[in-house]
Amino acid sequence: MGATRFIAAHYLIDRGEVIPRPIVKVDADGTILSVEQWERLDSMANTEFYGGAICAGMVNAHSHVELSYLRGAIPSGTGFAGFARAIGQVRGNFSAEQRQRAMEAADQKMWQEGVAAVADIVNDSSTVDMKRRSAIHYHSMVEVFGLNSSIEPSQQIAREFGDADLTTHSTYSIQDGVFRQIADECRGPLSIHFMESDDEAALYRGEGSLAAWYERMGWRCDFLHYGSPAQRVISSVAPYKRIMLVHNCCVSEQEVQQLEQHFDEGPSWVLCPRSNDYISALRPPVEMLRRAGARICIGTDSLASNSSLSMIDELKCFSDVPAREVLKWATINGAEALGLRQQLGSIEKGKRPGVVLIDKVVKRGDELYIADDAVARRLV
Ligand SMILES: [Zn+2]
Repeated sequence: MGATRFIAAHYLIDRGEVIPRPIVKVDADGTILSVEQWERLDSMANTEFYGGAICAGMVNAHSHVELSYLRGAIPSGTGFAGFARAIGQVRGNFSAEQRQRAMEAADQKMWQEGVAAVADIVNDSSTVDMKRRSAIHYHSMVEVFGLNSSIEPSQQIAREFGDADLTTHSTYSIQDGVFRQIADECRGPLSIHFMESDDEAALYRGEGSLAAWYERMGWRCDFLHYGSPAQRVISSVAPYKRIMLVHNCCVSEQEVQQLEQHFDEGPSWVLCPRSNDYISALRPPVEMLRRAGARICIGTDSLASNSSLSMIDELKCFSDVPAREVLKWATINGAEALGLRQQLGSIEKGKRPGVVLIDKVVKRGDELYIADDAVARRLV
């Protein structure tokens, strides 16, 4: 029998609020028993005290853990089409054992750094065993990719994961019928790489590097009549579906409003700033999304386009945004996107969300911000 723990800190940052002097009582199995505020620490025996802020376990809203072996294998700055080609070229250069070791190490590091759940895109079944053993909750989605692809091979992989959903890679890499079928049959959220580059919208006008590449290869698209990636999503995915739109670097304010209006619950706008910087030096339009009241979530993407899967380092890319807001993106918003709000994403009585320490926060004006050299560490 483990003991009940009392965890105190300078701040609790939870669901967009900062609560000073929290003391959280946690059961041996990680269930939150109570959240209160302390007055004087010297009167509390058996209490663990931490400087900095505590928050709920984080939700990495976009990754491809199976690609962890590609860390450092693809140079940064190749641009968008160059990156897609490079992945295809280096994929075969690694043994099954190297791949396995890399994904196990990535999983353990994410756990230690406080990740509770991952929205993970898969193209094969190599992560099945690792995920069964992991303490992290993985929501695996089998990605259908390629203009000539059919869905049967992906359905086979989905069965190996115990009936995972299929999802569509993007609005530029899947033909109309397959895209619509997946959108119709998907039970959880659909996750789509969206407006990562200007080339996606340009393709619909017959311009840009994607259009040129497809032309050279002799590939035809049967979906360009929708006019734009945003219009294609609106025309193909029913309003009651949940959707995660990943990257969003080149989405316009008008498109954000149209997509917000179309989907009953609004899309989840997943930002992966370090991956964008790695591939194309683009930045997601975070101020515009904040103005629109959008549900922002945070993902790391894969180690093919990032130096680590650290959520806190992702949050440091938004150094002008208060900690209470970026941590909301990284916790409860991600849990909501995955339909896990009842279990994860906030420090509330009865939940088992994990408790994470952000060891350094700095005060500027009335707000707290995550310090540049802060680290995140799992306490529970
Ligand atoms: Zn991705």
